[in-house]
Amino acid sequence: MDPAELELARACKGFLDEEEGQRLHALAREAASIGPVLEVGSYCGKSAVYLGSGVKREGGTLICVDHHRGSEEHQRGEQYHDPELYDADAARMDSLHELRKNLRLAGLEQTAMLLVAPSAAAARVWGTPLGMVFIDGGHSHEAAHADYDGWARHVAPGGILAIHDLFPDPNEGGQAPIEIYRKGLASGWFEELPTTKTLGVMRRR
Ligand code: SAH
Ligand code: MG
Repeated sequence: MDPAELELARACKGFLDEEEGQRLHALAREAASIGPVLEVGSYCGKSAVYLGSGVKREGGTLICVDHHRGSEEHQRGEQYHDPELYDADAARMDSLHELRKNLRLAGLEQTAMLLVAPSAAAARVWGTPLGMVFIDGGHSHEAAHADYDGWARHVAPGGILAIHDLFPDPNEGGQAPIEIYRKGLASGWFEELPTTKTLGVMRRR
């Protein structure tokens, strides 16, 4: 990753470890030749900058799916609420402006397409086989399973499914992401690739 891109990714508000980001970058670069790369849960663009800079190098496309209203833990009064992302007029969270800013600064406006929608609704109308899907949206049981059920079937043969926030020890974090990771492996559709910290990775057979 070039140093200027890395600097930008580091500066973005967000929830992604640098080593995980670098892995996403490498995977996206490889997957972009198979088909578009799609992420669920863009927030302010940290993962999008890692993914997008890899995709851009291959002349590919990144699709960023997010309703930009925040997950449960981002709402007012919750642990990860950021008052700078609160739209008082709408009385809602809004991370879209910050995402657009970061994509512009990273030179990704010609690479990234923003799909501002609930993930499940977007998955229902989606038709293009994808080179890679990165799931990092809502972490409730319902949201995570809907993301898996909606998007895993769109990964093209040879393509990558990556899932963030795997915590084998329930004391360290919610179990929904690792549940859908296990569901992917149990489906027989995917082969397991090495994990980077909490980032699980598999390849569609
Ligand atoms: N990948 C980001 C962090 C994502 S945080 C990073 O690198 O920093 C999770 C995001 O998922 C939030 O922005 C939230 O708005 C979005 N989200 C949660 N549930 C969603 C749903 N059902 N549909 C669309 N987006 C959702
Ligand atoms: Mg995450």
